[in-house]
Amino acid sequence: MLKIEHLKKWFGDLEVLKDINLEVKRGEVVVIIGASGSGKSTLLRCINFLEKAQKGKIYVNGKQVRQQEKQLNKVRQGLGMVFQHFNLFPHMTVIGNVMEGMIHVKNMPKEKAREKALELLEQVGLSDKADIYPAMISGGQKQRVAIARALAMEPEIMLFDEPTSALDPELVGEVLSVMTDLANKGMTMLVVTHEMWFAKEVADRVIFMDDGIILEEAPPEEMFSAPKEERTLAFLKQVL
Ligand code: ADP
Ligand code: MG
Repeated sequence: MLKIEHLKKWFGDLEVLKDINLEVKRGEVVVIIGASGSGKSTLLRCINFLEKAQKGKIYVNGKQVRQQEKQLNKVRQGLGMVFQHFNLFPHMTVIGNVMEGMIHVKNMPKEKAREKALELLEQVGLSDKADIYPAMISGGQKQRVAIARALAMEPEIMLFDEPTSALDPELVGEVLSVMTDLANKGMTMLVVTHEMWFAKEVADRVIFMDDGIILEEAPPEEMFSAPKEERTLAFLKQVL
């Protein structure tokens, strides 16, 4: 589904991604952990071409994606992205936010988009909030709307960058529960998170990033009980 070969990224003189190789299979849930500044966000941003990597290849569905491609918007549509800050349009209702991309990117008729948006809001448990504005809902609810909005584009992979980091602790669970449902439905997911129980319960594979490299990669039970690398152990001791 997604394959990354020898990806390298510099910001000026600073090498932020140093030869990243990564594969995500259809239906797989891969969780990325690692200290702040290790390159996790930059990796996700390179995957959907919000950042330009200087070296390396990215394949989506077996096809190499080139940065200069006119098809880039099409490729981005296949990759749903959920950020730490939800960036909902404040002047649009909840359902308006979910419908927006279907109408303006997918050219879907309004009625059909509304129907689909309602289904998605139902899926994230927010059908009763459809007609109110983002300012009136909690952070956890906003993030669930952001997930519904990303799903509206029918992505093949969902990329999450610390989706619960900006939330009050009591709101984290509802977002992770929506993500867990999504994983159980077979969605391919690449998730950066510090929520270790999510990694333990939901991930097929956990990746530990350290200073721009993938230092270690293992199924969660192995990663959390018997990490091979000293630095992984040190990190886990801090967060567990
Ligand atoms: P993480 O998400 O793991 O915290 P990031 O990918 O955000 O790490 O950052 C990795 C490194 O790249 C950090 O040293 C950060 O300061 C640097 N960095 C990130 N974005 C930029 C940018 N736009 N310009 C310069 N340096 C950046
Ligand atoms: Mg980050």
